[in-house]
Amino acid sequence: MKITKVKLGRISVPLRTPFKTALRTVNRVEDVIVELHTDTGAVGYGEAPPTGAVTGHTTGAILGAIQDHIAGAILGREVDAFEPLLQAVQGAVVGNSSAKAAVDMALWDLYGQLYRIPVYKLLGGGRRQLVTDITISVNDPQTMADDAVKAVERGYDCLKMKVGVDPALDTQRLRAVRQAVGPDTVIRIDANQAWTPKQAVAILNQMQEQGLMIELVEQPVKAHDLEGLRYVTQHSYVPVLADEAVFSPEDAMTILQTRAADLLNIKLMKCGGLYNALKIASAAEVYGVECMIGCMLEAKISVNAAVHLACAKSIITKIDLDGPVLCSEDPIFGGAVFDERRITVSDGPGLGILGIQEDRLTPIWELSL
Ligand SMILES: [Mg+2]
Repeated sequence: MKITKVKLGRISVPLRTPFKTALRTVNRVEDVIVELHTDTGAVGYGEAPPTGAVTGHTTGAILGAIQDHIAGAILGREVDAFEPLLQAVQGAVVGNSSAKAAVDMALWDLYGQLYRIPVYKLLGGGRRQLVTDITISVNDPQTMADDAVKAVERGYDCLKMKVGVDPALDTQRLRAVRQAVGPDTVIRIDANQAWTPKQAVAILNQMQEQGLMIELVEQPVKAHDLEGLRYVTQHSYVPVLADEAVFSPEDAMTILQTRAADLLNIKLMKCGGLYNALKIASAAEVYGVECMIGCMLEAKISVNAAVHLACAKSIITKIDLDGPVLCSEDPIFGGAVFDERRITVSDGPGLGILGIQEDRLTPIWELSL
């Protein structure tokens, strides 16, 4: 199976409601789509969301990295020589893990198709179903409580609340949501780097003293502030999950070795795809540190790749793959089934993606042999 063409396009899918965090507000998913065509007719699919506010990777940056560097590194090569191909993607350009992730997952898709095996089984996985949380955007306390009740009515039993816009309000936000949903719903919170270390400890301990029962806090402090992250981990009763602080496997090793966080959030767009995500999962396993699998605002192609990883790795115990259910429609054929909180991986070969609704895909560029 030889790669004969690299195609880039863009999909645009409206969200059900605007997505608001401490860093940004978004109304649509507008992601770069990668198609790798081969001489057997098999097509591998990949996707990358431009999440400039988190990764720095804009649409132009993702397209440029693939057009100018990555496409040339893989075109004409045999999929069967798989690891060198994955390494060629990682080595083709500095940074831009989102572009690398999109191409990396398309390669896994092809490799699975070549040997007619779903990727999660190729990785040794047993489970076929996952249960995801759903994100509640940051708003005033009453709006967040209303949104939380709607999510529980849709069947979700785990909510991820975005906080950190005006930290003085965060305890009120959580109190309003906890009162609205009762004690049985799991609540995790994501501050998206909004707090100082001392502020984080004060807010978190106040929340726990008030009996608000937080499962974990995601990225309380600035991404680069590992000392601060470690301070919060040591001084708060709430487990701390590193998100923006851990992009690469090297970042993960540093956090594991310094015990700067209790948990790691793996996202394909941060680490550059499945190849590196597997390294993070293995390192975390060695340290006995559980992982969350997360996503950006993504449609189903890239989240589907994360589903395969999560089904394969038991160290991934927390599932935050709500991208597709935040979208108001699904223009992707095949792949995992997202039925509100229940995700079922497909047993099709590779990643199981069959195609993209034509009117949702705008072609941008292609390079052929
Ligand atoms: Mg996060």
